[in-house]
Amino acid sequence: MIVSIDQQLCTGDGVCEQGCPQLFALGDDGYAYVKNAEGELVERTTVPAGLELAAIQAAEECPGECIVVDAA
Ligand code: SF4
Repeated sequence: MIVSIDQQLCTGDGVCEQGCPQLFALGDDGYAYVKNAEGELVERTTVPAGLELAAIQAAEECPGECIVVDAA
C-alpha cells in the first residue's frame, strides 16, 4: 500500500499526525508529510506493515481530503 499527501490541499491542522504519528508529521513548512522507512518526511511512501488501517482511517478523516492511499 502506498500513501501520499497532496500538499496543495493540506490545511495543516495536524489531524493525521494526531491519529497516527508513526506515519504522519507536520513539516517545518506547516504542511503534513508521510514518514518513509528512514523516518524522513516525504510526500509519498510505502505504508509499513500494520499501519494500513491507520492510513485508510487518516485518509477518511483528513479535512482537506488530501491523503491518498493506493493498493499498489
Ligand atoms: S489531516 Fe489532511 S489536511 Fe490535516 S494536516 Fe493531515 S494531510 Fe493536512
